[in-house]
Amino acid sequence: MRLLLMGPPGAGKGTQAAVIAERFAVPAISTGDIFRANVARRTALGTAAQTYMDAGEYVPDEITNAMVADRLCEGDCADGFLLDGYPRTPQQVAELDTILDRSGVALDAAVLLEADPDELVSRLLARSEEQGRADDTESVIRRRLEVYAAETGRLADSYAERDLLATVDGLGPVEEVTDRILAALTSMSAQRTATSAP
Ligand code: ADP
Repeated sequence: MRLLLMGPPGAGKGTQAAVIAERFAVPAISTGDIFRANVARRTALGTAAQTYMDAGEYVPDEITNAMVADRLCEGDCADGFLLDGYPRTPQQVAELDTILDRSGVALDAAVLLEADPDELVSRLLARSEEQGRADDTESVIRRRLEVYAAETGRLADSYAERDLLATVDGLGPVEEVTDRILAALTSMSAQRTATSAP
């Protein structure tokens, strides 16, 4: 299973990524988590990423793409993966296509988690109290939502054009959202089987 999980900050990507990846026994790869781990360990990658993250801006594509290309080469990705928070720009979509083509594999689906903007802000503010993430202050949250709307909001269209997109309502209890995602994936694969039948 090769999956993408897309959606605005606060939609619940990280929470759902962990559950869905476990269900399909594939690694959940979060670019945000990898950047944060590098910031914490003070690596060169962390130093390069931190100013962008603190401001709510995207880390430049060259840095992000190289990191994802390396990660997807690791052995645990051979039978599948779930990417959380990547791709977020057209250049990242192109890079992912190149990486997959090179390995002769294809994506199975892109899941877009949707939620109302006010709900996103209140979820992120609540999380900032629990986790103290540096970029969960109100002004940086607003900037992250703006950047998402400007840079990433329309990217899902390119997966819709390839019949790979499942749009799922991210509101409600975690288990219900998980069930919606699994149902959407099941119905996509059923449709595919039906259309590819002789
Ligand atoms: P969120 O989706 O809530 O903003 P993430 O943990 O996914 O949180 O990302 C945190 C930060 O990491 C982003 O604001 C950005 O600076 C950086 N980042 C994560 N993924 C990418 C990406 N694909 N491209 C560029 N920057 C990224």
